[in-house]
Amino acid sequence: MASVIGSVLDKREHDRSDILAMLQCSEEDVPLLYRRAAAVRDRYIGNTIFLRGLIEYSNMCGKNCLYCGIRRQNDKVVRYTLTNDEVIEAALTAHRLKLGSIAIQAGENWSKSFIDNMEELIRTIRKLTDGQLGITLSLGEQSRETYQRWFEAGAHRYLLRIEAASEALYRKVHPDDAMHRYERRIECLRMIQETGYQTGTGVMIGLPFQTMSHLADDVIFMRDFDIDMCGMGPFIEHSDTPLGVNGADNLFMKERFNLTLRMIAIIRIIMKDINIVASTAMQAIDPTGREKAIACGANVVMPNLTPTKYRPGYKLYEGKPAFSEINEQNISGLKLSLIPGTTLGLGVWGDTPHYSRRMARI
Ligand code: SAH
Ligand code: SF4
Repeated sequence: MASVIGSVLDKREHDRSDILAMLQCSEEDVPLLYRRAAAVRDRYIGNTIFLRGLIEYSNMCGKNCLYCGIRRQNDKVVRYTLTNDEVIEAALTAHRLKLGSIAIQAGENWSKSFIDNMEELIRTIRKLTDGQLGITLSLGEQSRETYQRWFEAGAHRYLLRIEAASEALYRKVHPDDAMHRYERRIECLRMIQETGYQTGTGVMIGLPFQTMSHLADDVIFMRDFDIDMCGMGPFIEHSDTPLGVNGADNLFMKERFNLTLRMIAIIRIIMKDINIVASTAMQAIDPTGREKAIACGANVVMPNLTPTKYRPGYKLYEGKPAFSEINEQNISGLKLSLIPGTTLGLGVWGDTPHYSRRMARI
């Protein structure tokens, strides 16, 4: 008997019911879904895995997202901000190791000194690497002017997860105040896209109150927003947060992990030529999590370059790997033997063809 998922996979366009069918297909059909997603990646963008050296610049955050370990009200966190020298050193390490680009991430900070300093850092890194090192930012909600300034300074990709595309669900996992508005998140994503960044978003998978229907809406949101990059990961409890008071709930962790793999595969099948990250949170649940994500369609990995002494301070969720995983011998931190048929994209930015196609249409 032909598999049910086979006929869905063979469609040229997928509607909401197809997305739900892929999300809920039987265990026997899952390998077919994953294999198709990897084949779509290889066909549309090739089998090269691109690297972004992750620099966790600061854990100071003005916001209070109910799921996040570095939320403002978690007073157990020892706050840090890297010095400019430390950021530059990490960036130069990325350049030396031929990672091609870096991603600077931090809690949300809207102060003038933060914004000015970031602009300066972006310019300095571009200058010191002769414009060769790509720069992605993930610094949360900012003003249009700030997005513009950082773009002009030389950053060219920005990642701002919508977290949950359903407004009702978004409200359940954020405080109900002016600093955590769904409309503002959307507005910022729009401004990022309009500024000219390669624009990335994503969601957490396995949030409390989340249903399959929400996940189908997440896929539709990313498709309709025409994003260039997707970063998704399982939600993992942090015991010092309102949504994690009982600690990591391992009973359902495997389900969240598997559902994240399905989401990656589905986004790949539907959006075809975008960049999809194999997130660190996958690795927190399964030591070979990122390799598994690549085997079902992801094509970007973010080895951590944050100086080791700061890593315990950037615990967004529990079990986040804090060890140093990359060096001259293994610059991706990947167990490449587990993902046959892929190669590493060294010394290149690894931009998506999706972005150039989108810009050509504007
Ligand atoms: N402050 C910025 C960037 C840092 S947070 C921002 O919020 O955009 C980066 C991402 O970490 C968030 O977008 C969120 O999706 C993820 N994250 C936070 N807490 C998490 C948790 N408990 N489990 C899994 N992912 C989490
Ligand atoms: Fe701050 Fe980002 Fe964590 Fe929200 S998810 S509390 S904005 S670091």
